[in-house]
Amino acid sequence: MGNQERILVTGGSGFLGASLCERLVQAGHEVICLDNLLTSSIDNIEHLLGSGNFKFIEHDVTEPIRLEVDEIYNLACPASPIHYQANPIKTMKTSVLGMIHVLGMAKRCGARVLQASTSEIYGDPDVHPQPESYRGLVNTLGPRACYDEGKRAAEALCSDYRRSHDVEVRIARIFNTYGPGMATNDGRVVSNFILQTLRGEPVTVYGDGSQTRSFCYRDDLIEGLVRLMALDGKEPWPVNLGNPEECSMLDLVQAVARACGREATVTYQPIPNDDPKQRCPDITRARELLDWSPSVSLQEGLQRTVSWFQNQT
Ligand code: UDP
Repeated sequence: MGNQERILVTGGSGFLGASLCERLVQAGHEVICLDNLLTSSIDNIEHLLGSGNFKFIEHDVTEPIRLEVDEIYNLACPASPIHYQANPIKTMKTSVLGMIHVLGMAKRCGARVLQASTSEIYGDPDVHPQPESYRGLVNTLGPRACYDEGKRAAEALCSDYRRSHDVEVRIARIFNTYGPGMATNDGRVVSNFILQTLRGEPVTVYGDGSQTRSFCYRDDLIEGLVRLMALDGKEPWPVNLGNPEECSMLDLVQAVARACGREATVTYQPIPNDDPKQRCPDITRARELLDWSPSVSLQEGLQRTVSWFQNQT
């Protein structure tokens, strides 16, 4: 990525989008950030607005838009279960119509696309850890289907636009990611546990807390996205990006308590429907193709995130 590119980031004012925009502006690229601000905030990109290389357009990806760009990172979609389930039809439209508009633009401009896919395409997996060859176990009728199936359809569209129109696509299957910049109302487990612990409240563990996730620090993930976009070749290989260090939600309670320097207390709440029991990426492909693996440990990343949340109040 030595040359200056004109890069579109949809969902560019979200948690990951804003961090990606910052990284791309710093690298000297011209960045267009598109967002409808449904679950994100303009505050995330405020510091970039004065840069001559950065432009924000308030726009919903379910509507077409005409832009001239060299690369597109398609991150637009609510990603937290409480947000994507709040308006499931809108979520599906964002994934599917948004993808069609992005791929149509890429076809017209000859741009390369990186699709932010998700570990959710594996559903409640019965293969563990999950390699990219695993096809998943998704409930098409459940409350997570709007997101899971929307993202699966988006992958199918990427593959079809490549086969039919030779569009260059990259698919990143992003596993749970956390870090500074997460919204306080995000509702996902890391921010909930940190905020509850800092307030001295019991942390809300859903179910018995034995379910597992693998948490990747924001900056590691952004590095993976940038490397994947830069990868040459036309195969739309999906690539898992996430931290292979797996932990249960009860382990996470303790790790967050350590990072906050507090004692944890727990209150148990019902497990949501279709909540995956286990999730951990096999990142062999990312290691081989991108020479990428996470460098920030969970404890270190949590400490940085806790410090950030403390500075917000
Ligand atoms: N979870 C929890 N307490 C919370 C929020 C989430 O125990 O306050 C659990 C949730 O049931 C799931 C895991 O933490 O098993 C991760 O949930 P999150 O919403 O962060 O992301 P997911 O991986 O489910 O999309």
